[in-house]
Amino acid sequence: MSLQSSALARVKPSATIAVSAKARALAAQGRDVIGLGAGEPDFDTPDNIKAAAIEAINRGETKYTDADGMPELKKAIVAKFARENGLTYEVNQIHVASGGKPVIYNALLATLNPGDEVIVPAPYWVSYPDMTLLAGGEPVFVTGEEKDGFKLRPEVLEAAITPRTKWLILNSPSNPTGAAYTRAELESLAAVLRNHPQVWILTDDMYEHLTFDDFEYTTIAQVAPDLYDRTLTVNGVSKAYAMTGWRIGYAGGPKALIDLMRKVASQTTSNPSSVSQWAAVEALNGTQDFLKPRNDAFQARRDLVVSMLNQASGIRCPNPEGAFYVYPSIEGLIGKTTPSGVVIDGDDTFTTELLEAEGVAVVQGSAFGLSPYFRVSYATSEAVLEEACTRIQRFCASLK
Ligand code: PLP
Repeated sequence: MSLQSSALARVKPSATIAVSAKARALAAQGRDVIGLGAGEPDFDTPDNIKAAAIEAINRGETKYTDADGMPELKKAIVAKFARENGLTYEVNQIHVASGGKPVIYNALLATLNPGDEVIVPAPYWVSYPDMTLLAGGEPVFVTGEEKDGFKLRPEVLEAAITPRTKWLILNSPSNPTGAAYTRAELESLAAVLRNHPQVWILTDDMYEHLTFDDFEYTTIAQVAPDLYDRTLTVNGVSKAYAMTGWRIGYAGGPKALIDLMRKVASQTTSNPSSVSQWAAVEALNGTQDFLKPRNDAFQARRDLVVSMLNQASGIRCPNPEGAFYVYPSIEGLIGKTTPSGVVIDGDDTFTTELLEAEGVAVVQGSAFGLSPYFRVSYATSEAVLEEACTRIQRFCASLK
């Protein structure tokens, strides 16, 4: 009898975590490696947030809380949704978990039956398909083409919906492409969804605060209030507040769905860390002044990376609206040969050979469901990015 469950056998380990592990292993052997694989800001958690956590510890806020978050944090989240998204939720419509990842997993686990379909637009964040599989559902992939800014077109969505479709997952700005949907683009998707009342919408807004060039951020429940009753709006403090290690994510949605998600949490994780919840209260209620300068820094990095990658022979790098990723094409390098005699036959080979030759770790597009591309996370200093892009240029120039 196999040790591994059949549910887990359907799942593969996270490719992005695997790339980071491989880069760390090479660095441990003494290789000079630049890791552009990890999806976390290099900035530190702001001091006021750290102080709030320390005060919470000193006050003795170190006990269990409600399974899906304490009232003080839920109130801060209600205020955030009202202030920033024009969305009205009651406290009993909020779910808090140990990161955005478990929020999404709790929603899928609470609602999917075997055979239920989840539409996952590619390029996708690596966890959506595998969390769907683990929860017993079936991911249905649709593609946002590069010519459409990697965004899902309404006619492509329409063609993918079946009577078994339970969820559509949207992610804007996107990991891995950085693409963000405009109001008009969300309206065109909403027009399709209106005709299919069985489809729920999970919008992952984790990168909401990271948009550039005066992009006007909107989320689907705001754009299409008539879909509010079947939309789960997911967000978290990990990316905007540089709090990846604190593990706090949250969502607002219809009470019936939130009740089911609480049932999952009550029997699995109990509550997210009480100390981290107090830190998140300060993140949401405290000063937001650091967001703008950090955003400006990310925009300067994006501009640098897009410009330098477009100067690498055979690479074409679109200019995304947000997040801290770019998703360049290597179409122009397919069929070329490295000095060591390896033929670049796709993005898996490209990223492996780039790491071997120049010690730059990036993630192959095949992990995100659209090839031949690769993902660069530019959440690191301009000096490091400049060096990494110089190495990528050198590697591309060495291909014959
Ligand atoms: N959603 C997207 C699109 C992400 O890129 C990530 C993290 O990489 C998450 C959710 C998960 O965030 P958290 O660290 O809060 O679980």
